[in-house]
Amino acid sequence: MLELTDVTVTFPGATAVDRVDLRVEEGSVLAVLGPSGCGKSTLLRAVAGLEPITSGSIRWQGRDLRGVPTHERGFALMFQDGQLFAQASVADNIGYPLRLRGRSRRERAGRVAELLELVGLGGYADRRPATLSGGQQQRVALARSLAADPALLLLDEPLSSLDRALRDRLAGDLREILTATGTTALLVTHDHDEAFTVADRMAVMLDGRIAQEGDAVQVWRHPVSREVASFVGYDTIVESSSPAGRRLLASGQEGGVASGGSGSVALRRSALRVDPRGDLSGVVRRMTTVSDALHLEVDVEGLGRLPALAADRGPEVGDEVRLTVDPRGVARLPD
Ligand code: ADP
Ligand code: MG
Repeated sequence: MLELTDVTVTFPGATAVDRVDLRVEEGSVLAVLGPSGCGKSTLLRAVAGLEPITSGSIRWQGRDLRGVPTHERGFALMFQDGQLFAQASVADNIGYPLRLRGRSRRERAGRVAELLELVGLGGYADRRPATLSGGQQQRVALARSLAADPALLLLDEPLSSLDRALRDRLAGDLREILTATGTTALLVTHDHDEAFTVADRMAVMLDGRIAQEGDAVQVWRHPVSREVASFVGYDTIVESSSPAGRRLLASGQEGGVASGGSGSVALRRSALRVDPRGDLSGVVRRMTTVSDALHLEVDVEGLGRLPALAADRGPEVGDEVRLTVDPRGVARLPD
């Protein structure tokens, strides 16, 4: 198990990591999710032994890692750009960590073939990285980081250089691969979908600190503050005591959204859906087509302008529509 206690990393003029406590249980995947500049890479580099910590402790299986050099930690790192060796074949790239450990050519070949299958690249052994797509290159980088059976895999925005559709697919594959191999992993990313897909647990990092940590579904559904809510994809906040808030909560009640109380209500884009049976109504002001849905902006009676979703061949701008509240897109924030 990896255990960070009160870890601080200070640079001249900036505290990048501020008293962070985190645990990653053996065989589980923790995602640290946060905006650019919040300290994610510094945290990961500290765990890898590439960045000295100012105070606190990092322990692996109970052993304090202070003073233990990177190569003796037994961890593997994977970055946004896979940093493959351009002149070497895919097989040589993947086998590199094994060569460093003095494994025989035969042993390496066997393990490389196994890893190529694992990441879905059987048959690509002799290719050069430049002849592969971005997604395939990241698969090679993943295979290389798994080659030496690392005790802990550290992933720094491994999918961020890929386009959205590919990123979603690869995030699912990454999750399957980590689960199949029982790999303990710490992933840092700014992409909440990626964090949610890949990890069991999620820690939201804002400005060097962990703002919320917990089961991924729990963080996703019950953010503890506006800042966390907005970072995990709730783009609208409504006061629950306002007429709009009360209306919204009343509409969502059937689906299990608790009404009453104070505080505020956070909405994802998916919270409001066009549905003729809905009890809210509004006028469509803008419409954007995305791959599998229509993103609308609707002037909702009594609520103001809010995002909403419609299925294919939805309404036109200017149309009046009825809307239902999907409770999965609604979170109550504590006071
Ligand atoms: P993230 O990975 O979340 O984008 P980083 O860990 O890279 O964030 O950076 C966190 C903060 O620390 C930033 O303000 C960054 O400018 C600063 N920082 C990172 N590395 C150094 C360094 N070597 N020297 C000084 N400041 C740094
Ligand atoms: Mg970074």
